[in-house]
Amino acid sequence: MLRQYELVERVKAYDPDADEGLLNRAYVFAMKAHGAQLRHSGDPYFSHPIEVAGILTELKLDPATIVTGLLHDVLEDTTSTTEEIESLFGKEVEALVDGVTKLSKVEWSSETTKQAENFRKLLIAMSHDIRVLLVKLADRLHNMRTLHFVPGEERRKRIAQETMEIYAPLAGRMGMQAMREELEDLAFQELNPDAHASVTARMQFLRDQGGEIVRRISDLLKRTLAEKGLDAWVQGREKRPFSIWRKMEQKMISFEQLSDIIGFRIVTGSTDDCYRALGILHSTWRAVPGRFKDYISVPKNNGYQSLHTTVIGPEEQRVEVQIRSLEMHEIAEHGVAAHWGYKDRLDANDQARGSPYHFLRELVGILEHGGSPEEFLEHTKLEMFQDQVFCFTPKGDLIALPKGATSIDFAYAVHTEVGDTCVGCKINGRPMPLRTQLQNGDSVEIIRSKAQRPVPAWESMVVTGKARSAVRRFVRQAERDEFARLGKDIVERVFREAGYDPTDKALEAAATRFKLAKVPDLYVAVGRGTIVSAALRETLVPKEPSAKAKKPGFFRRKPAPAAGHANGNGNGHAIPIQGLVPGLAVHLSPCCHPLPGERIVGVVTPGRGVAVHTIDCVELERLHGEAERWLDLSWDKAAVDAAHLVGRLDIVLSNEPGALANLCAVIARHDGNISNLKITERSADFFEFLVDVEVNDVKHLNGIMAALNATSAVSTVKRVRN
Ligand code: MN
Repeated sequence: MLRQYELVERVKAYDPDADEGLLNRAYVFAMKAHGAQLRHSGDPYFSHPIEVAGILTELKLDPATIVTGLLHDVLEDTTSTTEEIESLFGKEVEALVDGVTKLSKVEWSSETTKQAENFRKLLIAMSHDIRVLLVKLADRLHNMRTLHFVPGEERRKRIAQETMEIYAPLAGRMGMQAMREELEDLAFQELNPDAHASVTARMQFLRDQGGEIVRRISDLLKRTLAEKGLDAWVQGREKRPFSIWRKMEQKMISFEQLSDIIGFRIVTGSTDDCYRALGILHSTWRAVPGRFKDYISVPKNNGYQSLHTTVIGPEEQRVEVQIRSLEMHEIAEHGVAAHWGYKDRLDANDQARGSPYHFLRELVGILEHGGSPEEFLEHTKLEMFQDQVFCFTPKGDLIALPKGATSIDFAYAVHTEVGDTCVGCKINGRPMPLRTQLQNGDSVEIIRSKAQRPVPAWESMVVTGKARSAVRRFVRQAERDEFARLGKDIVERVFREAGYDPTDKALEAAATRFKLAKVPDLYVAVGRGTIVSAALRETLVPKEPSAKAKKPGFFRRKPAPAAGHANGNGNGHAIPIQGLVPGLAVHLSPCCHPLPGERIVGVVTPGRGVAVHTIDCVELERLHGEAERWLDLSWDKAAVDAAHLVGRLDIVLSNEPGALANLCAVIARHDGNISNLKITERSADFFEFLVDVEVNDVKHLNGIMAALNATSAVSTVKRVRN
């Protein structure tokens, strides 16, 4: 385990201005906070954060990041608080530690690549500061190094899988090749121990056969370059078992010779020297065709730069060579993190852009959007995923949504059918309203009901185009269906009152008169009230008697004409109300709150459908002169069951302890559900308030009123009308 002074010395070595006191305080704090906790390895727990800090010093990161490494587990695993950390180590460290803690709470469980990609985005979105990700990667690296101590094969495999699919590619995207390769290799060992063992054994065999060959080739390369006046550093480097395995899998090849496991690296002082070194190699030995790549003039998306080539080298061996400058080398090994080493040089540039981390943020930009320098600048911010939220299904699938999205958006993102039938949701296991805005990392379970249908109010609760258009489409269609159903009843009644049969032919002719293509269009127009029944009747019974002769034959008059009702209320059956979706074709009017069991009348409002009133509603008196717009309606059982019907009560209650609780209990006992409650009057002795109670029908409401009247604290109960 890294000693306190060793850690400080390491930081001082690359950052002489580092705040020693801060590092010392954090070291001691972590040690004390973790106390006697132990790792699975049997080591004291605090050895872990200290090793993580050690890994971060290898990346030469700033003191705040090192301190975060030391403290990264104290919020999660000890009694320490964010306030404590802020007061001892400052806001910057507190924010970083908090970020790492939050990141550690999300777990990834699905196995498809697409999910993995989304999960990486989630991690990036949640890390407001790139350093949070760097600490998380260092944390994961140390946990992988000690993975074999973790009991339970399944758990080890899960962690290794997560590392292979999430963290290693993330390190790769950030250009941290060394970290990526080590993570991959450790995960490979756990996930496929047989393959790992056989690759390792084969490597050992080739190594034994080759003997001193690596050193000999290194020396020869170095000497050849030196003879042409080029000073460079040459390194023979064994490839990692996992990268060999991947190559074998992808290219279906076996590895036969040492050159398959050893690569050589030439590190020069400048970019020019890279091309010079390449020239020397190619003029000395024969290049293998198709193996030359220039990643200096065309860098990889993660910023990687090098020249790659293979030559038939000394001793007739194929020799793979990467040529790069020292700066390229640092960036290739440590990626994003390497830029801290060049901080001084970049400072002026960064300050000009207003943020000391600007450069790092840019690099994160390339994680997801590689490509041209222009694109680079466009997508450079870490905030690029800040306008998204990432949530999980109960199975662990990740759903990406725009910021501000609600559970309804989530439901529609899962599947249109799920959206259409959602009635409620649980967020992180708790029942929440559907309109709840989702947060990063929320686990969302949608509760569905076959009886549910999208309602117009949802339109204002969603932000995704998919949800909005699905709701709109559904509402529009449902509305049309309702208008058509209603219109059909009205049209047929008008026909019968005028003494005609509503035959298909007659209906088609009527539609044509109103310049409508189809009969259903006529129904919709009549239901909507854009064609009033009087106008329809006129086409059947023209005002001028002479016109009667011209009437087409298919308007066959029934032998026994039925007399029209004086108020237009119809002579036939009352029209049943169906599909009482609020805001659609039929509305229960808020003036009298009609309930099933009461006699009702519908009033057609052109373009808006039908308002339903009770037969004794005073509002109807006002509309008396317009009997033409009245419809005789009846309650449809199925529709009523699906709707939440509200009875409004005015209750005067004595102002005594427990009175209100008592009242609620009485309503609940009679299966009434209070949907709204508003105090209108309040004195020393009495409360007066309005209560909206969801009930099945008027009988149900009357039962509740009787029970309330029998309650001692209740002085009066009245049904509210108008
Ligand atoms: Mn940790």
